[in-house]
Amino acid sequence: MGETVETVTGPIAIGQLGKTLVHEHFAFGYPGFSGDISLGAFDFQEALRVGISVAESVMAHGVKTVVDPTPNECGRNPELLQKISTETGLQIICATGYYYEGEGATPYFKFRQGLGTAEEDIYEMFIKEITDGIGTTGIKPGIIKLASSKDQITGYEKMFFKAAARVHKETGISILTHTQEGTMGPDQAKLLVEDGVNPQSIIIGHMCGNTDAAYHLKTLEWGVNIGFDRFGIQGLVGAPYDKERLITLIGLLNSGYEKQIMLSHDTVNYWMGRPPVLPEQVEKIMANWQPVYLFEEIIPKLKVAGISDETIAILFEENPKKLFLSKSSVKA
Ligand SMILES: [Zn+2]
Repeated sequence: MGETVETVTGPIAIGQLGKTLVHEHFAFGYPGFSGDISLGAFDFQEALRVGISVAESVMAHGVKTVVDPTPNECGRNPELLQKISTETGLQIICATGYYYEGEGATPYFKFRQGLGTAEEDIYEMFIKEITDGIGTTGIKPGIIKLASSKDQITGYEKMFFKAAARVHKETGISILTHTQEGTMGPDQAKLLVEDGVNPQSIIIGHMCGNTDAAYHLKTLEWGVNIGFDRFGIQGLVGAPYDKERLITLIGLLNSGYEKQIMLSHDTVNYWMGRPPVLPEQVEKIMANWQPVYLFEEIIPKLKVAGISDETIAILFEENPKKLFLSKSSVKA
């Protein structure tokens, strides 16, 4: 089969990936959601119903694969993803990893950090899931998820970066990140590349949280990929407006960086715990936060700006392939 990547239904050839959305959540919950069980209990059947409808809607736009990088402690549910995949035929890649210090569930590994074993423990967790699957499901993650805070990569977060670099070097697995409020993109790239990670195997996420071209160039210089992966998120979590994202994106595409950019929405399609109630004003500007928004609204705008179909195919098809292909540099 040649080079393969793990999906929630097993390995597929890289060539089978097709049009890919690199960052969407079928289900997500902020850690702590499980305590709100009386009002926000997880409804597997409802999450499945929503997930199937989302899968069908993106497949209608030609999407073959979705990467769902939900962190382990944010409600990651490989069996739900597997069921969505088998019901619809959409290929789904899940992740192994923990969220950033401010919004993750930190006490478990902080306790072990105090004991001095955490980095090794995290390394073992990654290797175990990649080799044998998540828990008893047999479902293997196809990517490692990392995350950092606003304006810093904390000591807690660095343990995950270090462990991930080591695992990447041993297994070839790719790495996808969360940056907070448009900060630390260049620093994440530097940390991983200097630790020996193949730049082509890295996607620095949420880069569209920053509209400063210099910030992007300083990240791209490391040879890594970047995600303009929050289209539709406006007026929340420190995000810029889509029209600003578009200006930055078009500038980078016109400067020849199309081989290092991927697009997505970072949608949450089913909230674990009670769904959030947004203020009316925010609700209005967030109305486009849907997994087909890129295809319905953003791509037409890119075309009007002179971006070719060929470039758009590079963003959605060629680049995801290369992100997962770079395994080839690792010899078993
Ligand atoms: Zn996300």
